[in-house]
Amino acid sequence: MRTNYHTHSRYCDGKGELREYVEYAIAHGFSALGFSGHAPVLFPNNFSIRQEQYLDYCNEVRALKAEYAGRIDIRLGLEIDYIPGVLEDFTPLIEQGGLEYTIGSVHLIPNPDDVETLRNLCATAQGEERQQIPYHIWFIDGPKQETYDKGLHHIFHDDIRAGVKAFFHQQNAMIERNRPTVVGHFDKIVMHNRNRFFQYDEKWFRDLLYETVELIRESGCIAEINTRGLYKGRHTDFYPAKETIQYMNSLHIPVLVGTDAHEPSNLDQFEGAYEFLKEIGYRNVMQELRF
Ligand SMILES: [Zn+2]
Ligand SMILES: [Zn+2]
Repeated sequence: MRTNYHTHSRYCDGKGELREYVEYAIAHGFSALGFSGHAPVLFPNNFSIRQEQYLDYCNEVRALKAEYAGRIDIRLGLEIDYIPGVLEDFTPLIEQGGLEYTIGSVHLIPNPDDVETLRNLCATAQGEERQQIPYHIWFIDGPKQETYDKGLHHIFHDDIRAGVKAFFHQQNAMIERNRPTVVGHFDKIVMHNRNRFFQYDEKWFRDLLYETVELIRESGCIAEINTRGLYKGRHTDFYPAKETIQYMNSLHIPVLVGTDAHEPSNLDQFEGAYEFLKEIGYRNVMQELRF
């Protein structure tokens, strides 16, 4: 049984039509496929579904679900960014779209001491001014290390501990407030770090990481094991890292493997995740989401 619930498309920053993903999944023996485009956000960007296309995305997934019923179980989801002052409540998106599940992820981090500036800009900025909004947010994802370094400099004045702490605290707030079905790639802050600013086993980092793990356990959310860093060559481990997965096993946290596909051929790039989970005797592997 093969499944994948972390899937983008041309509606956001992925390549290819939704139907191409469905056809690829069927041809490769999948029993279920969930779509999780990047939720619309209120400022100019080149990665999220545009607000005016949000319902088209939802309706197209639903149409495919009906068309392919009996051949593959298609599900409508969304990867939603939790951004203090900008996108804190997932409910309107869930209700407007009729979503079946959510992946809660943090890619964009404002300085927690200056959320007001961002909130005001999003509420009132027009035209040119709106283009400034991304400069008030640390973008930790994407292909460029340079973007990460610049954001760390501008938003956190090169204080890596303050930035990492803001990342984890933002995730904690997301989990407590929204309880997403799945918590996406929750240690992704390490991707562009590449052991330059800190090591994974430093105590202060481990304490922040484990606090989030504990919160995931308490909230009953599923933790994602995300394989994208491996097949894109941007990271040498899963998100979260193997040692964290071992720790999660001791807490009986349910996990779901997601490939974070941005083109159809990414759908089955599992990068040995299931073999690893089997090897360490992981007790609570979800193969399919239950609805
Ligand atoms: Zn993501
Ligand atoms: Zn994603």
